[in-house]
Amino acid sequence: MEKMEQPPHVVFHTIPAQGHIKPLLCLAQLLSEAGLYITFVFSHHFRKCFENLPDLSNQSPNLHFEFISDGLPDDHPRSITFDFFYDIKTKTKPHLKDLILSLNTRSPPVSCIINDQYINYPLEVAEELGIPSFTFCAHSASFALTYFIIPKLIEDGHLPFADDDMNHEINGVPGLEGILRRKNLPIFCALPDINSPDFQYFLNGTTGMIPYSSGLIINTFDELEDQSLPQLAKHFRKVYAVGPLHAFLNSKIGKYGSQLIGSHISLWKADQNCITWLDSQPLRSVLYVSFGSLINISASQLLEFWHGLVNSGHPFLWVIRPDVIFSEGEQAVIPEELKIGAKEKGYIVDWAPQEEVLFHQAVGAFFTHCGWNSISESIMARIPLICWPQLYDQLISSDLVSKVLRIGVELKACDRSTIETTIKTLMETKKQEFQNSVNRVANSAQDGIGQGGSSNQNIEILIQHIKNMKLN
Ligand code: UDP
Repeated sequence: MEKMEQPPHVVFHTIPAQGHIKPLLCLAQLLSEAGLYITFVFSHHFRKCFENLPDLSNQSPNLHFEFISDGLPDDHPRSITFDFFYDIKTKTKPHLKDLILSLNTRSPPVSCIINDQYINYPLEVAEELGIPSFTFCAHSASFALTYFIIPKLIEDGHLPFADDDMNHEINGVPGLEGILRRKNLPIFCALPDINSPDFQYFLNGTTGMIPYSSGLIINTFDELEDQSLPQLAKHFRKVYAVGPLHAFLNSKIGKYGSQLIGSHISLWKADQNCITWLDSQPLRSVLYVSFGSLINISASQLLEFWHGLVNSGHPFLWVIRPDVIFSEGEQAVIPEELKIGAKEKGYIVDWAPQEEVLFHQAVGAFFTHCGWNSISESIMARIPLICWPQLYDQLISSDLVSKVLRIGVELKACDRSTIETTIKTLMETKKQEFQNSVNRVANSAQDGIGQGGSSNQNIEILIQHIKNMKLN
């Protein structure tokens, strides 16, 4: 009797950050829908994030989860810092390698690994086991490109920085014209010594393994980043722009399906009561405020926000994560006056069902830290943005949003008066202008994921690429 053909087996591995896991899970589910056998690998330490995970076996029988040790002691803080990346590089690698060897004996043999751009050890494991691999990028092509221009910036004397002016613009860099400021570069570029082990580690860590990668899969789309994507493509064998992945998945499995997937790995449970509150608000009147899953703010900043929001006169729905306030030197509690005041004007939650919120007809604008998922979700819901970027890729994304796409404005200073006037600009004086721009970008995103669209085609090519790997 003929042996039944086994599907290609793709192993996913990423850093334990909400903004990375969600788009990668969306990709994993899309590939599983296409008949590929998927294993998503997490560390034991994040198992608690899966406590509410409903049984996906009916919906996605090809999607499997495995847990490995990250090799770190239990009391390790596991915050996303330089040290964490150093530590997991060597400590987690043997556990991942053992798992893949074991998967080969109990499931279809592993055909390829898809790993997060910020960790190299899965690529090393793939190399050692003779398995092809892809690099996944959870943020914009513009930010991804900043890593590859560093040698040229050094050659041209832009690095190390000559002074402390982080807003200094760097011109003449193909693909990043008009959006490159010192502060938009990867964080290690601020190190004063470009020959230091830290600088070299992070430069080589993110770009050094690229020759071994079969391609870059990125959660953006051709029309959104038509400047930077062609430049980025010069550094990889192949670039697959397949975004926005959440919208792609929603188009396959139903609206908010990706939110459901994303909330499985969230540390906080989304408060659905805010939807009932939104139901009672006038059309397009509410400002949704959320700074994502990682960043912290001071208690005094929080108060400035509160005054700015209340003074703007617009109702607001505000996500204040229980761990959002810095604990150092300040009281790590939400000020009581903030909670009381917000009762009249707004609604505060620990964590919101963000995609559903953005699609609610009462929401008119999004005050965001510019995480790439938040931007993509806002675009798809046709909601203009106020950008308050703090770290990492958020800084260049804010310039992309406000200067190139013109679908939002950047908050220039974090005081109550600037906050109030910026909200009024977006939600009153320039409302229609921003709405028109975001509609235009949303239409091109929708076209991209639709039949024959660029992202749709790219994902088909990717799937074929993976299937061919299995044959080889
Ligand atoms: N998110 C959510 N509820 C919230 C805040 C955020 O579901 O109250 C989700 C949001 O939909 C997005 C992710 O968390 O998919 C945050 O990712 P992003 O890239 O925007 O920011 P990060 O958390 O990585 O800084």
